Amino acid sequence: MISSRAAPTQRPAAAALPAPRRPTVARPARRGGAAAAAAAAAGAAPPELDVAIAGAGPAGLAAAAALRRADPSLRVGLFERTPMTARGAGVLVGVNGLLALNAINPAIVEGLLARAIKLEGSERYSCDTGEYLEFQQMPNDKFKDRYGFTNALLGWADITAALQEQLPPGSVRSGAAVSGFERLPDGRLSVLGPAGAPLATARALVGADGWFSALRGALRPGAEAPTFKEIVVWRARLPRRDEWLDNPGRTKWWVPAKQHPGSLLAVLIPVPGGDLVWQCHAPMSLMRERGLAFDPITGEGASSHSEGPRARASDGAAAASDGAKARCLRAFEGFPGLARFLEVVEATPDDVITEHGLYQHLPDQIPQGHWGSGMVTLAGDAAHTATVDGTGMAQAFEDAAVLGKHVQQSGLSEASLRAYEAERARRVRAVFSMANRHGGDGGGGGPAAAV
Ligand SMILES: Cc1cc2nc3c(=O)[nH]c(=O)nc-3n(C[C@H](O)[C@H](O)[C@H](O)COP(=O)(O)OP(=O)(O)OC[C@H]3O[C@@H](n4cnc5c(N)ncnc54)[C@H](O)[C@@H]3O)c2cc1C
Repeated sequence: MISSRAAPTQRPAAAALPAPRRPTVARPARRGGAAAAAAAAAGAAPPELDVAIAGAGPAGLAAAAALRRADPSLRVGLFERTPMTARGAGVLVGVNGLLALNAINPAIVEGLLARAIKLEGSERYSCDTGEYLEFQQMPNDKFKDRYGFTNALLGWADITAALQEQLPPGSVRSGAAVSGFERLPDGRLSVLGPAGAPLATARALVGADGWFSALRGALRPGAEAPTFKEIVVWRARLPRRDEWLDNPGRTKWWVPAKQHPGSLLAVLIPVPGGDLVWQCHAPMSLMRERGLAFDPITGEGASSHSEGPRARASDGAAAASDGAKARCLRAFEGFPGLARFLEVVEATPDDVITEHGLYQHLPDQIPQGHWGSGMVTLAGDAAHTATVDGTGMAQAFEDAAVLGKHVQQSGLSEASLRAYEAERARRVRAVFSMANRHGGDGGGGGPAAAV
């Protein structure tokens, strides 16, 4: 998804996880035969871990760092569905996220801030006329005085690269999708990949597999997927040109036109490595007006940052062959104020443009007490998908810090996992309620970014 010129360097995913201490695993309770056969066909005994983590996004990587900090003897392995190539949105990490990472290990924040762009603020323009409206300054001095940090602007892949640097080589196995788990008779877990093949055995499992988490469904059948916000998002990352974004310390926003209040948005975001991310949001009302069909993706496998193009044209209103770029240009044509923004879209290769819906767990969709069971828990968007207002990343990092704290205090146990969930569920409901009261979907830096 990112040009090769400026792709943030990701440490190549190592092939192997920590070597198994014991060569065999207990047979899965129900699918033992098929699972064992699949493992045998793959020719390798699944590694034995203390903690397996599904998903090497920010939540999974930060949780791994926190668990290893809590107890360096823990064998922690991450299973990531995609190849760990550079990809993802431009993300403003709120100060509370930085504070959480700092509590885990100050070196992580140093690594992140060394890459980050310090955002001065955002220039606002009108979608209708292109007219310059105002400059909204980031309260960096206030944040610095009060919290010791300012916000940090990075690409999603810059964040995961910085986090991965803190883990031992080989911690992440990429191209390994987790489909579920089975509880073994001896209390351990068999972590299952495609077709039920065992990927690992582990004492504990953390589902950090994003907003359409496979593990959330396996853990709590009927668990609510996040709600579609009736907004379609396109975005891409590419090398920045000065004529598009002359000040790499500022974002440029084209804000809601009168006839589509609240959710129509276009933004240029500077990210590290001389790149920019462009992102635009179209409300479903605009999509219908333009004859563009969109099926919200609610199934397992959809992911906010790691997917390629996701153009959907199910009812024939838009030709199925339309790429994401054509659909984006069609959605926003006729807004004279967006001409400069659409030049950037035009200059972007179709195959790096991502199209997806916006989804959110409403505060009431966050369980009151806990979201896990036994030695299985969730973290990040899998447990609580935030609206896009600068809340989600920080909440993922707070999860990691609190999980690490409880494991440090009480060891790797069911009691620690439930204590972590109870503490986090309270906090997340409060933060989400605040974010909801103030609106959102603005793509970073909203009021909840610093709670
Ligand atoms: C367009 C956009 C802009 C955003 N901007 C901001 C912002 O400015 N500030 C902010 O704080 N937040 C922002 N967010 C939210 C933030 O990105 C998320 O809250 C954060 O990425 C959550 O991290 P996560 O690791 O839980 O999930 P993800 O980032 O989704 O990572 C999940 C990982 O799990 C992998 N995975 C998925 N399924 C499986 C499986 N079955 N097996 C193995 N691996 C799997 C995925 O490939 C991915 O690598 C934004 C979100 C979007 C979509």
